[in-house]
Parts: sequence; structure tokens; C-alpha cells
Amino acid sequence: MNHDGPRTTFDTHTHLHFPALAPLEQLLSRAREAGVKYILTAGVDLRTSQRAVEIAEAYPGVYAAVGIHPGNLAQGYQNALAENIDALKGIALSSEKVVAIGEIGLDRHILSEVLSRGDKNPEDVQSGQNPSISPKAANEQVFALQKAYFKAQFKLAVTLQKSIIIHNREAAEDLLNILSDVWDASCRDRVVLHCCEARQELLDYAIAHDVFIGIDGDVTYSRKKQDFVKRVPLDRLVLETDSPFLTPEPIKRERSINEPSNLVVIDRAVQQLRAETTEEAATQESGAFFTNQVTENALKLFQMST
Ligand SMILES: [Zn+2]
Repeated sequence: MNHDGPRTTFDTHTHLHFPALAPLEQLLSRAREAGVKYILTAGVDLRTSQRAVEIAEAYPGVYAAVGIHPGNLAQGYQNALAENIDALKGIALSSEKVVAIGEIGLDRHILSEVLSRGDKNPEDVQSGQNPSISPKAANEQVFALQKAYFKAQFKLAVTLQKSIIIHNREAAEDLLNILSDVWDASCRDRVVLHCCEARQELLDYAIAHDVFIGIDGDVTYSRKKQDFVKRVPLDRLVLETDSPFLTPEPIKRERSINEPSNLVVIDRAVQQLRAETTEEAATQESGAFFTNQVTENALKLFQMST
């Protein structure tokens, strides 16, 4: 094996449907040159899930996840849960390249942003009903909707035997409660906590249930994430760029839009951080060994064989 050339890697989380990433031909050839052989692109609502499938169908090495993101639920979704899950199922079954349901989950941060902006009541945005309800109560209603969609999509993934990409922001306790409810034995090695918050209880859950931990470019500048990534067992780690978001340092200083070729920067940063922890990590996890292991993890996560 030529150790000087780029090693094969898997960017397990991107959103290639964002116009900022076009033209995709060039972006994907830069990724290939950097050794990023596999890319997963995730939808965040029905429209972008459909688009994720089209992109995956159009390009070799690109796979799709389809799902409704918790941040996209304030748009008249509450009366149409069954209908939307059915539509999502149709998209999921439309292509062999759909390997996962995602990204799905819970996000209290989005709710607090709406509250602190002092915007229009989120309930008004959502349905036009109950204009007299307090913003806080309205937020709780939107959060209840997030939970309902998360559960329904998790169950859909279990039924369809698809892998699952979980988004969680400031809602770890609720997330773990729901997981204890909907978890199925078949989910082992098939679920990822995307851009995992640096919380010990999430890591404990992941280790106990063979869930993968997604690490992103913020590991290059967040102290919390740096400490966290040292504690994640190597067989639980997967890497992701979350393109076009979360551009790693030092690229971030020049260009704010992230892209899959930057996965190699994250790969290197994580290796270096882990090498600081133990001598064992420094020798055993160096170079190709580390990259091969996280790539294997990703292939296992999405039930793909090489
Ligand atoms: Zn994402």
C-alpha cells in the first residue's frame, strides 16, 4: 500500500443539496482526489430528501439519507404526520442508494432561538392557530411535534431496516428517554449520533448500544469536543464534515463553506488529539490504521460492504 497517497475515507454526513456547494462535479472530484471515496448526503425535509436521492443516483460513491429534521417542523407539519411519514417511506424505497433515515431528532436550541429573537409566536408560524398562546407554551408544542416525528421516523427506519442518523441539540435527556422506548435490537451498529454533543451520558449510551459517534470539524476549535473525542472508543468513531457547515480550522479563516474534501483535515486532527492521550494511541492509531478503522466503522454503520 502506498502510504504517501490519499487514503480511502467516508464522509458520513453532508448536505449536498445546498446551492452553495454547486457545481457538484468539481466538489466531488476534489473529494475523490483527497481520498474521500464515499459520501452520505442527508435530506432535512421531503423536498431535500428527494433531492438527496437524485444526487446519490447521479454520482458514484454518493449515498442518501432521507428524513425530516426537527428544525423543519414549524411549517404546517403537525396535522400531516401520517401523510408525511408515508411520503418519506416512498422516497426511502425509491432507490437502492438510500441507506439511512436521517437526519432526524430533537433540537431545543432552535426553539430557544425563536424565543430569544422575540419573533412571531412559533405556533403562529406553524399553524396559524392559537395566537393567544405564550411563546413558551408554543415552543413546548413544537417540541412535542419534534418528539412525535422523531419516534415515527425511528420506527420507519426499523421497519425498513435502514440505518439511522440522529440530530440532537440540547435535548439529550429527552432523546435518551425516547430511545429507551423505540430502541430495537436490530439497531446495533446501525445508528449514529451525528455531531455528537460532548456529553458523557450520550457516550455511555452509545457504548452500551453499539451506536456510532459522529465527529465534525468543530473538533479543530472546540475544547469540549477535543476532550470528548479522546474518550470515544475507536470502534465507535465515524467522521463527518456536515458540509456546507462546520468548516474546520484553519480552512475556516479563508473559506466559510465546508466541503467533503476537508474530511482529511478532521481525520488528521482527531488522530493528533488521540495520540496525546496514550502512547498506545500514538503508535497503534497512527496514519492508515486509524483512517481504515473509521472507514470500516462507517461502512458497517450504513450496512455497506466494500
Ligand atoms: Zn446535518
